[in-house]
Amino acid sequence: MKKILLSAAILVFFLACKSNKNLTSTELTSNSEIITKFGNTINSKDVKEHIYTLASDEFEGRQTGEKGQKLAAEYLINQYKSFGIKGINGTDNYLQHIPVEALNGKSEHPSENVIAFIEGTEKPNEILVISSHYDHLGIHDGEIFYGADDDASGTTGVLEIAQAFAKAKKQGYGPKRSILFVNFTGEEKGLLGSKYFSKNPVYPLENMVAGLNIDMIGRIGKERAPDDNNYVYVIGADRLSSELHAINEKANATYTHMALDYTYNEESDPNRFYFRSDHYNLAKHGIPIIFYFNGTHADYHKATDTKEKINLDLLTKRAQLVFYTAWEIANREERLMVDKGSDLVEN
Ligand SMILES: [Zn+2]
Repeated sequence: MKKILLSAAILVFFLACKSNKNLTSTELTSNSEIITKFGNTINSKDVKEHIYTLASDEFEGRQTGEKGQKLAAEYLINQYKSFGIKGINGTDNYLQHIPVEALNGKSEHPSENVIAFIEGTEKPNEILVISSHYDHLGIHDGEIFYGADDDASGTTGVLEIAQAFAKAKKQGYGPKRSILFVNFTGEEKGLLGSKYFSKNPVYPLENMVAGLNIDMIGRIGKERAPDDNNYVYVIGADRLSSELHAINEKANATYTHMALDYTYNEESDPNRFYFRSDHYNLAKHGIPIIFYFNGTHADYHKATDTKEKINLDLLTKRAQLVFYTAWEIANREERLMVDKGSDLVEN
């Protein structure tokens, strides 16, 4: 009896190993049941918890170098740890320290990018970057600038996507390529955290296959109808890689069914958003990026950008789109092709 039980246990163990490790790229990118199982772990309840913490009074508007930013960094690290995701190079260090000299006189104190890493099962040296900025404007004239949309929303998205990939990995569906989750500091001071990251990369820039950057996904922008809760602006997707644009479109057509608005992707668009958030510090080095964005609104860069105005379901759906796009990039057979726009590369 004992022997039979043991044999059965061994058999179960080997079956588990097989289902855990032997899925091909084609199997991992075509099995919508598996993919949606993890996409659906991104949910509005978790989203609310992150937003309400990051945009709380306690975090004081997360000004670069100040107490609130440090508290936010600590919160992010604790979240990554609770998901079972390691820090830089698989260590317990999640902080890229930025000396005060690199902050251009805009902070009295040093600051930190927060970085977490899931190593790829087959192509660990090919890295997908998923990012947001977690800093905001701090306190002015006694008023907290909460930055619930800018960019507690994107930072929440990155956390939820990280958790979904961590859950997948635990169940044997770890990504083939590595994924680097980066929460930049100093964005509001002039993209300083991402600038430092690209000048002092913790992994070689040439290994970075793409960057998905999320900056403001929790609201409805002023150029859309006030009840338009099913769209996102997509910026930059086709600038360096025609494949990236197609992958994002397909992920949306298959799973999230939102209107993808390319208005701000027009090279003639006077807002020039392509150059205005952290992704640009990757794009200028030839790394294809997508910037996910809801557009600006009346509360943009005001103390009134508060947590209760966040559309939790819309934020959830937009984060899911980023997850589905990331899943394809991380698991597909071929590395994303860079076939366009070398003239955009500068220093
Ligand atoms: Zn922002």
